[in-house]
Amino acid sequence: MGEHDGVSALSQADSKQFVDRYERKFYYLRLSITDVCNFKCTYCLPDGYHPTGRKNSSFLDQTEIKRIVNAFADCGTTKVRITGGEPTLRKDFTDIVASVADTRGIKKVAMTTNGYRMAKQVDSWKDAGLTNINVSVDSLDPKLFHQITGENKFHDVMNGIERALEIGYEQIKVNVVLLKQYNGNALPSFLHWIKSRPIQLRFIELMQTGEMDSLFQEQHQSGVSIRNHLIANGWLLKVKEANDGPAQVFIHPDYLGEIGLIMPYEKGFCETCNRLRVSATGKLHLCLFGEEGVELRDLLQQDEQEKDLIARIQGALNTKSVSHFLQEGKTGMTPHLASIGG
Ligand code: SAM
Ligand code: SF4
Repeated sequence: MGEHDGVSALSQADSKQFVDRYERKFYYLRLSITDVCNFKCTYCLPDGYHPTGRKNSSFLDQTEIKRIVNAFADCGTTKVRITGGEPTLRKDFTDIVASVADTRGIKKVAMTTNGYRMAKQVDSWKDAGLTNINVSVDSLDPKLFHQITGENKFHDVMNGIERALEIGYEQIKVNVVLLKQYNGNALPSFLHWIKSRPIQLRFIELMQTGEMDSLFQEQHQSGVSIRNHLIANGWLLKVKEANDGPAQVFIHPDYLGEIGLIMPYEKGFCETCNRLRVSATGKLHLCLFGEEGVELRDLLQQDEQEKDLIARIQGALNTKSVSHFLQEGKTGMTPHLASIGG
């Protein structure tokens, strides 16, 4: 892949790797391209999306996105996840996928989506170079899905997953946010669903964010009981490879699918952190639960600024904390995950 062989502002000799004080290497960029969303997930945007006073036009444009991705790729990034808000709400989503895929050094172009457009558009995303898909499905019961997301789109999302498998995606990752009173007992139905499908179902513990009120206290459920159930029923923890993220992945010989557990409140969760985030307006976030973010946009205006851009990112990285402080109730500046891309 790669249109910008030889035209990068950095020569090969200059190329380096983003690394922090704890020797964690960052090769994975999560890039938000919009914070607009059409769903109203109870744990994210329960009242729907409300513009924060700026127009959508102030989201990064394609040229700015390309410059960010070039800079990260020149410093060792091999995987970019395009997220939001709902990234597919951008009319130029497929062009963005194509442009990221066509960057030297980028081997994986992933997305996280609520899936409502997947059935109709996944073929064109694949053609554009999308390699990995994460789709959110918090319940396999259409009514409950509607209740959690505020949208009656369960069947559209399911058709999208089936279509993606049909056209050759080898595995689809499905995100399920664990919510005690909604899907706390749904493990058997999820297990049944993945028995014959190559789906990695990822249970994500609910994370407390700035705008969340009593929901966290009412709905947070630890992944421990799921882990115990899996282990008691013959599931085995998959050995992590060097570049794997913080999910604990379980496999079983009778199942085509896998189960992932994302437990941010568990000790050691941040040790394998390998990702950086850039918001839809061009701020670097060192942690999902960090502070305000480091402005990058002024350094996205010309190709010649790449060296300065890299220096600012590396400078910020030198201040990255060893872990988040969620256990102490410190949620950082993130009002909800739609704002910087979950
Ligand atoms: N709209 C897309 C979607 O829902 O997949 C992408 C953005 S969404 C913010 C990314 C992921 O974050 C989704 O899987 C969502 O379920 C998850 N998420 C959002 N808020 C969360 C929270 N407070 N705790 C845990 N996961 C959350
Ligand atoms: Fe939208 Fe995703 Fe947030 Fe749900 S989790 S409201 S789909 S951004």
